Amino acid sequence: MKVDLHCHSYYSDGDCSPSALVEMAIQNQVTHLSITDHDNIEVYQHLPSIPNQLQIIPGIECSVTWQRQEFHVVGLNIDLDSISLKRYLHAQLQRRYERALKISAELKKLGIHHSFEKVAEVAGHSVISRTHFAKFLIKEDIVRDHQTAFRKYLGSRAPAYIPSQWASLEETVAVIRQAGGQAVLAHPMHYGLSTAKTKALFKCFREAGGVAAEVVSGATQTKEILRWVQMSSNFRLKMSSGSDFHRPSSHRVGIGQQSNLPAHASPLWMDWAR
Ligand code: AMP
Ligand code: MN
Ligand code: MN
Ligand code: MN
Repeated sequence: MKVDLHCHSYYSDGDCSPSALVEMAIQNQVTHLSITDHDNIEVYQHLPSIPNQLQIIPGIECSVTWQRQEFHVVGLNIDLDSISLKRYLHAQLQRRYERALKISAELKKLGIHHSFEKVAEVAGHSVISRTHFAKFLIKEDIVRDHQTAFRKYLGSRAPAYIPSQWASLEETVAVIRQAGGQAVLAHPMHYGLSTAKTKALFKCFREAGGVAAEVVSGATQTKEILRWVQMSSNFRLKMSSGSDFHRPSSHRVGIGQQSNLPAHASPLWMDWAR
């Protein structure tokens, strides 16, 4: 089995169509692929026909607020018709919409007008994210690149930063479980937490009903993977793995090309039947 259980299409902040993602997965011999767009499952309405050698795992990446900080939870094998999931996604969409209006108001104070309307245009069929604000700022020649957009306007120390108030960790895990799915703590290495806070997070996630942590995200280094495998097994969590692919790029890995799990790990997909 070769899995990639975390990547994005252009229905969230990725650049690729579902067909392009599926094609890359096949090219890279992936057997199990989950497209996990931010707070939406629209991509699953637009999948191409899938050849036998590839299994698509319906998935999502949910934004949550825990102890006033943003974390991500991946839901895998979710029932896309789940009513509680739909209700939850509707509320998350509303939060994104309201935040976008607030960011737009802050940009207006800085002399940048009508950003909401123009960002909605840039986002097209996707759920609005700060990535779309960055694209808008680049398109209008206000900044020269993505990093500058976050440094000068959108990032957590910048003037148009609006802290997001997402759903709680507990509610998110509960909704994923109600939809028959498995909740996975996304990329724990990206949050910059102390060991004590990491342990508190893992404990809370496990108690809420989470079943795995994503110990490999893209090009995670072996030493770090080992640390997260140990942490996960201490909290009786299984281990997941994904590229977090958004677009072809020289410094990020492609679909299915993330680092390997060590042999002693307990992969979440071990008992998935084909
Ligand atoms: P959102 O979910 O709308 O808050 O947007 C989050 C996306 O913005 C992430 O997936 C990143 O791609 C991007 N992002 C967030 N913070 C930064 C940053 N400091 N520099 C560059 N990109 C960032
Ligand atoms: Mn993203
Ligand atoms: Mn994420
Ligand atoms: Mn992601």
